[in-house]
Amino acid sequence: MRDLVQKPGLSILEFANLKVLKGLFQLDLLTPFSKFVRKYFSHPHLIQLLEFPVLFLGARPSEIPALYSLMNYADMQLGTWYPNGGMHQIILAMKKLAIELGVEIRTGEEIKRFEMHDHSIQTAFTQSRRYEYDEIVAACDYQHLEQNLLDKKYRKYSSQYWDKRTLAPSCLIFYVGLNKKIQGLLHHNLFFDTDFGIHAEEIYTSPKWPENPLFYVSAPGKTDSSCAPQGCENLFILIPVAPGLKENPEIQEHYFNMVIKRIEERTGEAIRQHIILRRDYAYSNFVSDYHSFKGNAYGLANTLNQTAILKPKMQSNKVKNLTYTGQLTVPGPGVPPSLISGKIAAGLIHKKNQSHA
Ligand SMILES: Cc1cc2nc3c(=O)[nH]c(=O)nc-3n(C[C@H](O)[C@H](O)[C@H](O)COP(=O)(O)OP(=O)(O)OC[C@H]3O[C@@H](n4cnc5c(N)ncnc54)[C@H](O)[C@@H]3O)c2cc1C
Repeated sequence: MRDLVQKPGLSILEFANLKVLKGLFQLDLLTPFSKFVRKYFSHPHLIQLLEFPVLFLGARPSEIPALYSLMNYADMQLGTWYPNGGMHQIILAMKKLAIELGVEIRTGEEIKRFEMHDHSIQTAFTQSRRYEYDEIVAACDYQHLEQNLLDKKYRKYSSQYWDKRTLAPSCLIFYVGLNKKIQGLLHHNLFFDTDFGIHAEEIYTSPKWPENPLFYVSAPGKTDSSCAPQGCENLFILIPVAPGLKENPEIQEHYFNMVIKRIEERTGEAIRQHIILRRDYAYSNFVSDYHSFKGNAYGLANTLNQTAILKPKMQSNKVKNLTYTGQLTVPGPGVPPSLISGKIAAGLIHKKNQSHA
């Protein structure tokens, strides 16, 4: 982790030492994930189970480096951990710490444009306010800030560059509240009752709405009684889909009916007539809520040619006081990598300030 993941990815020289190079070979960076899994497992269910997390990384298991077996390792060896109260508790804990350290946090304001001075961002404008800056850490979608908020001469990358990036999938999500408990579900449930290979093709090879997708169901009330009122259940249902597929009400309805039917069949329990709340979240929501490039849910695909120094750079030589962070730059998508990315960004700014002092 220290030698590979916590690097700013500014130069290949960061990886030019014997320990790192040895580590790269040990991690089977050049072996395809699918081949690596089949070296140890032959049962089709075990193979599916090990390959499923890779589906979210942005390519088929045959194109993802075996390095990402670290996800399986974390799942199985380190265990799956759940913060009581849900993921939001992590945000609240970080907020508490930041406030203790003197940070002033403003939310619910969108940066609409910048005013530049001497190749630096001097002022940022929201709908109703203006902010003066010494340094900016851009944690929003990289493509959005660069292509929509900076003038052309301040952009490091062209629109063609962005169009050529391979994105990780988007997803169709259903939040469902039920007025009863469902016995046949665990906290985490993967529905492997259809063909994994066909779904992967529909995401990556010929992107289209999947015919019979695999999906994930979370029933956090199984672990955490604060998630739903007594005697009720809340479900989070996620179908990975190709990025850029615009949903519509008919499509949402089609998949909602499909997943509810499959959950009913598997658990042997009636669900439909017990639904008391439903919220859908899809491509258009990712775009409008997050300015997410092509509605992606997990940033750039983790393919070898979009790794480390080949990711969009954290700093640009065109804007002096701007550092990018988050899932579209190093080390990559996911909550832990995005947090590490913030730490790397802080380190870069600290180093810059020290060299100017
Ligand atoms: C359904 C789903 C399931 C996931 N599951 C997992 C998982 O199990 N494990 C895992 O590790 N990762 C998971 N991820 C991925 C993970 O959530 C992301 O990689 C991570 O949150 C990205 O963090 P970020 O800080 O880069 O961006 P974000 O969390 O997207 O934060 C960027 C923020 O910038 C804001 N913003 C955008 N434009 C502007 C603007 N102009 N002005 C002001 N603010 C702006 C956005 O509103 C947003 O709040 C999942 C993602 C999704 C969608």
